[in-house]
Amino acid sequence: MNINEQLRKYADLVINEGVKIKKDDVLIIRGQVEMIEFIRILVETAFKSGAKDVKVNYRDEYISKIRFQNASIETLEEVPQYFIDEQNSHMNKKAKFLSLVGNDPNLLSDVDPNKIKTSVLSTSKALKDFNGKMMNNETSWCVVGAAVPSWAKVVFPDLDIDEAMEKLWNLIFYTVRVDKENPIDEWDKHVDNLKKWSEFLNSHQFESLKYFSENGTDLEIKLPQNYIFSGASEFNRSGEEFIANMPTEEVFSMPHRDGANGIVYNTKPLNYNGNLIDDFYLKFKDGVVVDFGAKTGYEVLKNMLDSDEGASRLGEVALVPYHSPISETEILFYETLYDENASCHLALGKAYPTCIKDGENMSEKELLDNGVNDSVIHVDFMIGHKTTNIKGIKKDGTIIQIFENGDFVI
Ligand code: ZN
Ligand code: ZN
Repeated sequence: MNINEQLRKYADLVINEGVKIKKDDVLIIRGQVEMIEFIRILVETAFKSGAKDVKVNYRDEYISKIRFQNASIETLEEVPQYFIDEQNSHMNKKAKFLSLVGNDPNLLSDVDPNKIKTSVLSTSKALKDFNGKMMNNETSWCVVGAAVPSWAKVVFPDLDIDEAMEKLWNLIFYTVRVDKENPIDEWDKHVDNLKKWSEFLNSHQFESLKYFSENGTDLEIKLPQNYIFSGASEFNRSGEEFIANMPTEEVFSMPHRDGANGIVYNTKPLNYNGNLIDDFYLKFKDGVVVDFGAKTGYEVLKNMLDSDEGASRLGEVALVPYHSPISETEILFYETLYDENASCHLALGKAYPTCIKDGENMSEKELLDNGVNDSVIHVDFMIGHKTTNIKGIKKDGTIIQIFENGDFVI
C-alpha cells in the first residue's frame, strides 16, 4: 500500500474513531504548514463524514523560532484579544478540536529560556478558561501525530530525509494500528482492554500507590477519594464518545495534590516546547517538589516548575505496560504523545477534573478541597522502567501488586 492510501486510512481513523465527526459538526484542525498534504485529506474526510465546516489553524515552527529570536519579551508577552475570542467562540459553539503534533524537539534550544517562559505563560494564562473547558471535556478533542522533516531527522539521524520521513510515517501508522486490515475494529478491541484495567483500579479504590524501580524511583502517591481511572475513550458533555489521544496505551487518573512523597527519576527525555529535559529527578514532600535536578535542560525544568503554585504538584498518574506496542519498537520519538504511551508517566500541573467522581460539576474551590490540582501547565513525563514495581495500598492495609517488572500483573 502506498503512503497516500495509508494517509487516507489514517485520516479515516482519526476523523471517525478519534474526534468522531458527526453530521453538522464543526471541526477545528491545528497543525504545522508542513503537514498540509495530510491536513487536506483530513478536511476532505471530515466533510465526507458530515461536518458542516472545517477550519484550519496553521503554525510554522521556523517562523516561531525567528519570532522568538527577534521579538522582544514585551511583544512575546502580548496575547491579542481576538485570538482569545476566536478560541472561546469555537469552544462556546462546541466545535470539535483536532491537534496534530510533530516538531523538532531541539528547535528552541538556543533561544533565551526567559522568552519561551514568558510566551508560554502568557498564552496559557490567556487561554486558561478555554483549556479548562477542554480538559473538562466540554467538547470532543483529539491529539494525533504527523511526520515533518525536522522531527524525522531527529528520530532517524542516520537516514536521508525521504527515507526518514517514510519510516516515521510508517511508525505512526503502526502505533495507531493503521497497518492492520481493519483499524477501527482493532481500536474497539483495544478500548475494551484498557477499560478492564481501569475498572479493576476503580473497584479497589486504593488509598495510595507505591512505586519502586531499580533506577532509584521510590515514590508513594496518595489518590483522592472517589478517583476514576479511565483509558482510551471518553465522553464529552453532550454524551458523545471520543478518543483524546491516538495512540493511547494508558489508563490514567489523578494523584491527590498534597499526596506525593519520595523521589522519581525520568526514563525518557521530555520535549517541552522545543527544548529537551533529560536525566532529571524530582523529590516530593506532601505533594510539592522540594528538590530537583537535571543533566539536560535544568533551566527549562526550573522555569516550568516556577510557572505557578500548582506547577510543582502532580496532576496525572498513568499506567502503561513496559511491553506496549510502542515500547516494543525501542524507538525514542522525542514527542510526548508517543513516548508517554510507551511508559508509565506522571504529569506536573493541572489535573483532569473528570478523574474524580462529579469533578466536572465542581467549583474551583470544591476541586481544590478534593485534592484536584490546578495550574496553567499540564506536562507529562515518563518514569516507566523495566523494573517498575507498583503496589496498591487499600484503606484497610491490604496490599495488591499492580505492576511487576514493568508490566501489569492484575
Ligand atoms: Zn497521560
Ligand atoms: Zn497528560
